[in-house]
Amino acid sequence: MHDLNEIIDGGYCIGCGACAFVGKGSIDLIEDEYRQYQGRIQPEAKDMDLDAALAVCPFSNEGPNEDEISQRVFDYESGSYAEVVGYHKALYAGHVSDTGLRKKVTSGGILTYTLSELLKRDLVDAVVHVKKSDKSGTLFEYGFSRTPEEVVQGAKSRYYPIEISEVMDFIKNNEGRYAFVGIPCFIKTVRRLCGQDEILAERIHFFVGLVCGHLKSKAYADLMAWRAGFNPDEMKAIDFRHKFEDRNADDYGICVEDLHGNKKELVARETPGTNWGLGFFKYEACDYCDDIFAETADIAVGDAWLKDYTNDSLGNSVVVVRNETIQSIIDDGMKSGTLAFDELTAEEALMSQGGGFRHRRTGLGDRLYLKQKRTAWVPKKRVDAVDSGIPLLRKLIYRYRIYLRERSAVVWKDCRRAGNYSTFDRRMKWPTRGYSLLLKVGGIVRRLKQRVEK
Ligand SMILES: Cc1cc2nc3c(=O)[nH]c(=O)nc-3n(C[C@H](O)[C@H](O)[C@H](O)COP(=O)(O)OP(=O)(O)OC[C@H]3O[C@@H](n4cnc5c(N)ncnc54)[C@H](O)[C@@H]3O)c2cc1C
Repeated sequence: MHDLNEIIDGGYCIGCGACAFVGKGSIDLIEDEYRQYQGRIQPEAKDMDLDAALAVCPFSNEGPNEDEISQRVFDYESGSYAEVVGYHKALYAGHVSDTGLRKKVTSGGILTYTLSELLKRDLVDAVVHVKKSDKSGTLFEYGFSRTPEEVVQGAKSRYYPIEISEVMDFIKNNEGRYAFVGIPCFIKTVRRLCGQDEILAERIHFFVGLVCGHLKSKAYADLMAWRAGFNPDEMKAIDFRHKFEDRNADDYGICVEDLHGNKKELVARETPGTNWGLGFFKYEACDYCDDIFAETADIAVGDAWLKDYTNDSLGNSVVVVRNETIQSIIDDGMKSGTLAFDELTAEEALMSQGGGFRHRRTGLGDRLYLKQKRTAWVPKKRVDAVDSGIPLLRKLIYRYRIYLRERSAVVWKDCRRAGNYSTFDRRMKWPTRGYSLLLKVGGIVRRLKQRVEK
């Protein structure tokens, strides 16, 4: 069997579309019954195309891994390296000073700021990022912004499937200087593409990364529409990260609008299914990813989930700078006061992603062990499969999350097929309660341990 089958059938396909781009005619990208994009190999697929796809797929063992790419593209002599955070010139937490702009962005607006500056300084002709889509059946897609105003319109995090085959085709056929924006696995795959394709390498000048916990299938947006009281098939727009003036940054809203003009604002914390730890509708591939800080990107930006920053309702970003030109953009911004930044240590940057870090290190070790025990194919990771040394309760939590990911996808698929979403909560009630119970027991055990240690 070709390794690409192992990746797709094994649940490691993130649906990025790199395989469909290099293996046109042999591999298609489809939306599957779980509302996620997946590569599909055609019966008459040519081996040559499958090999080309394998060389760029972010979950294949063929191309360079994150460390190898990062060592090749960054100047390690002049910066620092910290495990998980990766290579960096500088680390910050902060936001854009313009309050008007800050209200329109996800966290501190550093992605929008950097991308706008790249255009203003004539360093690129277009930004390739995720924008609202006019196509039927999808709310968001990769597109191009050629002015800072367009970049601002494309702001906000989209926890939604997206793919790159069309925009890569465009770049290949249209001369220009581009900045590509993506979550870690997408940046890795475009770096791999550039390693194979001189034209793309010549045209993509900057790689701008988002820190990532995991990607969601379209079912997540569907569920939010359903929670808002709308028919998921009639959803027009969704803002996954609405800022409330009177709440902390980590207590955000989700705004949904349907085709009839009805709008609803949900409080994420009060909306079942939004707890990121539950991993509802997560791509399975995300459970086998070890890159949180987009380690191959020239700049990576995430939420500053740190106690000194979350109480600011307008939001702050954690920022990892790896590229000299981007460092000068940031330096100029700090000097002129357009950026309000504090320097961070690598430990602090890591702390901002505490949950993601545990899930993608110890948790990943356990998941790899489980797959290997079943003699299933696993991609090579920078984390080893581990059996011993993980406290039993932690192991149970990691394994329960696999169950919740699988179950939420299957139950939503059933509801969609039956045209009856009301059974979702009933069927997910006990699984969700089981997870809460595990967390509670974990908390009690941790407090008891702390008391004993005192
Ligand atoms: C799927 C996903 C998971 C994430 N998980 C975490 C996490 O666990 N921890 C954390 O700290 N941060 C996470 N983030 C990043 C976080 O939500 C913010 O995007 C980040 O803080 C940048 O904020 P900003 O204000 O600078 O971005 P903005 O100024 O709002 O700009 C966001 C930019 O990213 C682009 N974009 C949006 N969605 C996507 C996408 N899916 N793929 C590629 N480009 C996109 C937009 O087009 C826009 O240009 C995640 C983001 C995504 C999309």
